[in-house]
Amino acid sequence: MAHVKLHIPGPVEVSKKTFEAFCQPMVGHRGQGFKDLYAKVQPQLQTLLATKQLVYLSTSSAWGVMEGALRNLTAKKVLSCMKGAFSDKWLDVAKRCGKDAEALQVPWGSPIRAEDVDKKLATGQFNSLTLIHNETSTGTMSPVAEIAALKKKYPDVMFIVDAVSSMTAVPLGFDALGVDVLLAGTQKAFALPPGLTVFTCSPAALAKAATVKDRGYYFDFVEFEKNAKESMTPSTPSIPHIYALSSKLDEFFAEGLEKRYARHAQTNQMTRDWAAKHGFTLFPEKGFESVTLTCVNNGAKSGGRTVDVAKLQKLVKDQGFLIDGGYGKIKGTTFRLSNMGDETPETMGRLYAALDSAMGRL
Ligand SMILES: *Cc1c(COP(=O)(O)O)cnc(C)c1O
Repeated sequence: MAHVKLHIPGPVEVSKKTFEAFCQPMVGHRGQGFKDLYAKVQPQLQTLLATKQLVYLSTSSAWGVMEGALRNLTAKKVLSCMKGAFSDKWLDVAKRCGKDAEALQVPWGSPIRAEDVDKKLATGQFNSLTLIHNETSTGTMSPVAEIAALKKKYPDVMFIVDAVSSMTAVPLGFDALGVDVLLAGTQKAFALPPGLTVFTCSPAALAKAATVKDRGYYFDFVEFEKNAKESMTPSTPSIPHIYALSSKLDEFFAEGLEKRYARHAQTNQMTRDWAAKHGFTLFPEKGFESVTLTCVNNGAKSGGRTVDVAKLQKLVKDQGFLIDGGYGKIKGTTFRLSNMGDETPETMGRLYAALDSAMGRL
């Protein structure tokens, strides 16, 4: 069957080159071959995240580390900053871990604002907070630097930040932000196959984790740190993913990080222009739109155009592209187009051509 190219916001299209890197011969995870591989990617990841901390490799999807962060850093109560499907679910996950969790809920499409976080933290009730930088379900980015600046005022609160669909597409300097955990699954902006999560922790987070009970083993941050010092992981990792990550990091630095960020900004602007050209409005509050995906409004209520999203998806799929028809409660009243990963103005141009053709036949 012909491959349908992924333009959904994750997993995203994986290049042939990345799959070739994935398929290198296996090595033992306690041997020098693996240590050399980890020692090679470690400084690249540290440069990418502008950090002196060690960067860890977890064989899990992002949720593994998102849950792990709660178990490592929340003795009692977490503030869940909620603005869409993924951030809303993080509250539920905290409760399933036996933590007391309180919602800071804003309407889907709105960002989390630092002043609201400040008010909640001022109550002194919270050990930690969870924040999603780029809420993929709504295509909305929160002002992470402004929120992270509150860490100075509340040094004992652990700031856990999910950058799953933004890491590598926008600058995220971990040490300068001063947050405690920064994590990303690699099937989104990294354009690797699903199954690997990259994350890092502050010295304060590591000190805190050592005091928190019931961290478990698989996602114990203390174990990750201990092993990373020896260029190893606590358990047998998906070594093929790390080969592929190595190849991908080489690509990032060959392109140049600044150029990579500019490319995402450019291709995202092209998508917004495509939507405007067809009379659509965007779902996120103005000024907080994601640069890695575009969440387009559909329907009269949005003040823009109405189309049959399922039919649009089908007509685009027949031309070889998969787009997303909206997530959760905004399915059908929105649709999402991803420009994450390896996409260029040229490859995005092919998607717009397919979309244009589909629009003409709706
Ligand atoms: C996709 C996504 C997740 C969940 O990732 P999994 O790989 O399914 O665990 C979490 N947060 C954000 C922002 C995402 O986009």
